[in-house]
Amino acid sequence: APKTVLITGCSSGIGLALAVKMARDKQKRFKVIATMRNLGKRGCLEADAGITLNKTLEIRQLDVCDERSIISCINSIPNRHVDILINNAGVGMIGPIECQTIEEMKGVMETNFFGVVRMIKEVLPDMKRRRSGHIVVISSVMGLQGIMFNDIYTASKFAVEGFCESLVIQAALMLACVSSVSLIEPGPVVTEFETKVYEDAENADYSTTDPETADMFTNLYLKNSKAIFSSLGQTPNDIAEHTLRVITATKPPFRHQTNAVYTPMTALKHADPTGALMTDTFYKMVFKYDTLMHISLKAIRVIRWQARKMRQGVKMLGFR
Ligand code: NAD
Repeated sequence: APKTVLITGCSSGIGLALAVKMARDKQKRFKVIATMRNLGKRGCLEADAGITLNKTLEIRQLDVCDERSIISCINSIPNRHVDILINNAGVGMIGPIECQTIEEMKGVMETNFFGVVRMIKEVLPDMKRRRSGHIVVISSVMGLQGIMFNDIYTASKFAVEGFCESLVIQAALMLACVSSVSLIEPGPVVTEFETKVYEDAENADYSTTDPETADMFTNLYLKNSKAIFSSLGQTPNDIAEHTLRVITATKPPFRHQTNAVYTPMTALKHADPTGALMTDTFYKMVFKYDTLMHISLKAIRVIRWQARKMRQGVKMLGFR
């Protein structure tokens, strides 16, 4: 029987691409419940779903910030049976923190962190009872690595990473499978997400910060960030393909990065416990992004050296 897959935030971007890809699966392995906060925005998904609509793909309302909408959506599924939950809904926010209100920051945490918590809280007990299930979360490389002017967004993704890292062992024991939680960690992806944060950034009032910080954000950060998106950005379909590979793997990984360029950089954190290598690299990435490749090669050398030291350490501890 096809697996029931529930995806959040399917009106655009990664969620839409993933819902359509799974619904169009040639082997018909999935029944997709593509959810969105506002059903008025179902047009693009309906168009892309084509003949799969109401066959292998159904559209339902679900707001990850509204517990009642989550419960009523899950209750509408026969036996509340969800085999695979894909937490994709998310919002971005960039800029100096002095220009953001605490309410706006809480809004980001409400969607990106508590949204994931609400969904898992509702679905996990049924999965535990059935002793099977797979929880997937679209996190970000920013769940592993802080980056300037993304302070609150990064914090929300770090929260998600910490939450899932804590949950993975329990899920492995209860769902009788070591790979019951998977974090997908994309780098930049060209979607409405990027357009929305840039639009907000252009209309924001920077009078609440000092001119130097405002200039650093509007001139240096925004310019380089746009260049990074246009040169390294992946498509929603790329992320959908990676996610599908993770879901269908015999032993899905706990963490999966979609953009190889970022892998050595995120590993820098573990290679250098003082944090110096990591902060230096990310500073250069934001302000001198053309040196990225050079940095990546340097990072690979450091990581190889570190891996050798770690293997020696493991031997000394007598684990192997
Ligand atoms: P997007 O803006 O196209 O999609 C996000 C979706 O989430 C939208 O459809 C939006 O309506 C929905 N959403 C927002 N709040 C919601 C709520 N309360 N309830 C239900 N749905 C809600 O952007 P995207 O790039 O496709 O983002 C999808 C996920 O990928 C997000 O979690 C984002 O953090 C993550 N991500 C994006 C990028 C990127 O560069 N675009 C990079 C790494 C990770």
